[in-house]
Amino acid sequence: MSGSREPRSGNTTVDVVVVGAGFAGLSAAERLVSTGRSVLVVEGRDRVGGRSLSGEVAGVKVDLGATWVARRHTAVRDLASRVGCTTTDQFAQGRNVLWMAGRRRTYGGTIPKVSPAALVDMARMQAAVNKLVATVDVEAAWETPGAGRLDAVSFGEWLDRKNALPGTRALMTVISKVQWGCTPGDVSLLHALRYIRSAGGLDHMLDVEGGQQQDRIVETTQEIAQRVAERLGDRVRLETPVRRIAQDDDGVTVRTDSGEIRARYAIVTASPAHRAAIAFEPALSEQGEGLTRTWRMGVLSKAFVAYERPFWRAEGCSGEAVTDTGTVFITFDVSPAPGGPGVLMAFCDPRVFDGFGPGARRDRVVRQLADLYGPQALAPIDYLDHCWGAEPFAPGGPNPAVAPYATTSFGKALSEPHGRVHWAGSETAGEWAGTMNGAVLTGQRTAESVLTLLTRDVREGASR
Ligand SMILES: Cc1cc2nc3c(=O)[nH]c(=O)nc-3n(C[C@H](O)[C@H](O)[C@H](O)COP(=O)(O)OP(=O)(O)OC[C@H]3O[C@@H](n4cnc5c(N)ncnc54)[C@H](O)[C@@H]3O)c2cc1C
Repeated sequence: MSGSREPRSGNTTVDVVVVGAGFAGLSAAERLVSTGRSVLVVEGRDRVGGRSLSGEVAGVKVDLGATWVARRHTAVRDLASRVGCTTTDQFAQGRNVLWMAGRRRTYGGTIPKVSPAALVDMARMQAAVNKLVATVDVEAAWETPGAGRLDAVSFGEWLDRKNALPGTRALMTVISKVQWGCTPGDVSLLHALRYIRSAGGLDHMLDVEGGQQQDRIVETTQEIAQRVAERLGDRVRLETPVRRIAQDDDGVTVRTDSGEIRARYAIVTASPAHRAAIAFEPALSEQGEGLTRTWRMGVLSKAFVAYERPFWRAEGCSGEAVTDTGTVFITFDVSPAPGGPGVLMAFCDPRVFDGFGPGARRDRVVRQLADLYGPQALAPIDYLDHCWGAEPFAPGGPNPAVAPYATTSFGKALSEPHGRVHWAGSETAGEWAGTMNGAVLTGQRTAESVLTLLTRDVREGASR
């Protein structure tokens, strides 16, 4: 991998140029290289992994971005095992903590056991979500029966219309912040339904055991990407933002600050909003332009607080907490071993987190953990956080916070090729959109499409 601070200059010619060294781009490159094609992966950041990023707290490697893999995430699991990375269960033994409306309780299972009326309401709303989810065309949400109606309201407006009780709303808000990096009022109902369907339904999306939070990668998720990139070697160029992609009858010319790359085809894995930073020639279709303007990224922040030991376990707590108050809205135990150190991973609401300085952010998180887990939480041995909205390049995540009308108006442009420019990336996935697994599948799928075209070009060239 060419990871030097000084990117190589000069012009290069390859079969395929891949923009972005996240899971989609690396998977596309891996597939193309396995068939003997020449490939160059150009990445704007100084690292690979995209929305997967490792950090270290009290000597423990943690995932600042993507963390979990489900059992059904077979594509990313295969990739992980091929490069020697291993999984470990997400710790989930003991009771979870619920802090709602200023009151602390503990509960077992996925759904907080609050009042009987609240439980009935939760079940009612889950059934309503599931009924709509079942109607969604996951490959082409804009072709879902009644798509226009579903895309004309936000998830939040729909909850209002259904008279969801405060407890149900609070849980749906947590889901929205974790999945789309926004509150329910900022995401279209159709987009929310598409992502829930693509995540295998609400239960699979929310569950730890047997669900989407089933396993973590011991070595961290970014390590998978780093190992794939190492195998690709000099075919990966870091600190090389793509500024412009022009195309003619024979191929594409990709302009970077350090030179031009000529290729037969380009695979762009930048998320829809980040496609806007590339000047396309000819310009994107109106739908393609609209997509880049309206599929803005949501934002999410994460903090890791380390203790000598996972003290909450001794008190029968799982380390999983849900709260509607303050900065932290959900926590998980990501301790490496029962003997310590104990590490809590806290999802933080960027609106009441990102604007503060490092010391204030730490104080806010630690004080809230003390509310959830008691005064022992006030004595951490280490702390680390990451604000995805403040990333200097390709900011945001985990996923786009797509507002009403944007899916029906522009969704078709997600994966429709723009001439010789093909699109991959988690957002273009049908099944498993918004996950590393979806990203891997789209990289592989797009590589196959481009391979077919390369073969066709050779055949047509020979017959001319
Ligand atoms: C906080 C957080 C938590 C998450 N949790 C999970 C989880 O638990 N499980 C899960 O499966 N997923 C999770 N995700 C989502 C997951 O990380 C993504 O779905 C997946 O990594 C996307 O991969 P990708 O290759 O499609 O896109 P990316 O990872 O975004 O890669 C695209 C790459 O393109 C580069 N790029 C963009 N524009 C240009 C340009 N002009 N020139 C050159 N390079 C460019 C970017 O820098 C980036 O590296 C999480 C994400 C975040 C942020």
